[in-house]
Amino acid sequence: MIPYGKQAIDENDIAAVVDVLKSDFITQGPVLAQFEQAIADYTQSQYAVAASNATACLHLACLALEVEPGDIVWTSPISFVASSNCALYCGAEIDFVDIDPNTGLMSVDALATKLTQAKQAHRLPKVIIPVHLCGQSCDMEKIHQLVSQYDIKIIEDASHAIGGQYQHKPIGNCQFSDITVFSFHPVKIITTGEGGVATTNDAKLAHKLTLLRSHGVTRNSDELQHHEYGSWYYEQQQLGFNYRLTDIQAALGLSQLNKLDDFIERRNQLAANYHQMIKPLAIDTLQVNENCLSSYHLYVIKLHNSQIHKTVFEALRAKKIGVNLHYFPIHLQPYYQNLGFTTGMFEHAEAYCQHAISLPLYPELSKQDQQYVIETLAALLQQED
Ligand SMILES: *Cc1c(COP(=O)(O)O)cnc(C)c1O
Repeated sequence: MIPYGKQAIDENDIAAVVDVLKSDFITQGPVLAQFEQAIADYTQSQYAVAASNATACLHLACLALEVEPGDIVWTSPISFVASSNCALYCGAEIDFVDIDPNTGLMSVDALATKLTQAKQAHRLPKVIIPVHLCGQSCDMEKIHQLVSQYDIKIIEDASHAIGGQYQHKPIGNCQFSDITVFSFHPVKIITTGEGGVATTNDAKLAHKLTLLRSHGVTRNSDELQHHEYGSWYYEQQQLGFNYRLTDIQAALGLSQLNKLDDFIERRNQLAANYHQMIKPLAIDTLQVNENCLSSYHLYVIKLHNSQIHKTVFEALRAKKIGVNLHYFPIHLQPYYQNLGFTTGMFEHAEAYCQHAISLPLYPELSKQDQQYVIETLAALLQQED
């Protein structure tokens, strides 16, 4: 099976992990701090706080922005469920903004309309979470401009998008957001096995993220409320979690980061190959805007005819091509239907999932594999026509 995505691990990665295993610290030691600094440097942000996965980072980000029961959070229906679950973890209400069918990203027009309606209904969100689907940044300047009239915070779910750029600057610099979250799951651009990081330019937010990642406990003497105890003393000041990333993982991340630019170049090359190969076929792709460099986590094609979507999908898998769907709309998941969401609420998201197929894309994919994928696809389209 050609998978839709997979990690690329080399001898340097392995050696970096082994070094940590032989050292004094295997969790939250010096390598974690190095990794966080390297992420902050790469993304041109002030602070980077790593955690056990991006879902944990999204949860921490919502907590740091004080998302609580009674609050509303908006995200995109075309995303992984973690983008919206994080709000539910905080007891908040979730709602969605429909996508732009050309890009699959949160539609700026739909956002503008929904904001106007929400203002009138006194139901404005506290936080919105745009998702950089496939590795392309949402139009953050416009989104920021729209919400800046209100007291709304922004978390970028950039789980797909480390190494990507928006307006020629690294995604994660938080120029138009409060916090940006990246995932290091093995199918993503770089990996730590499991892992994630949140970047921000706000010292207070960085501090909260750090505190909540480890039980809400601090040992810093200048943060303690009590000073009468011994040096053994630590203080729990908030209800936090154990969302720590190990030094073993951080070492892998640091080593992977050295190859990030190569990965992005390779993924863009593979995407360009696909682009070229599918030209003769009756297939659309997601548009990438000129001011964006996509990290190309995913290469999504859209079939013209939704009637053949399931057949083509199953036939590709039968031919050992691990295609996937990113994503079935979150609001159509049974759990979300039980919350009151119904079919028909976000029409572009619902149409998208009836046409979209993610083709295999990862650094070690060969051009021959790509040719096999496209030839198989072309034969199926002809057969189904
Ligand atoms: C992968 C992913 C997540 C969750 O990442 P984990 O590190 O697996 O928790 C969140 N949002 C999106 C859009 C993702 O693709």
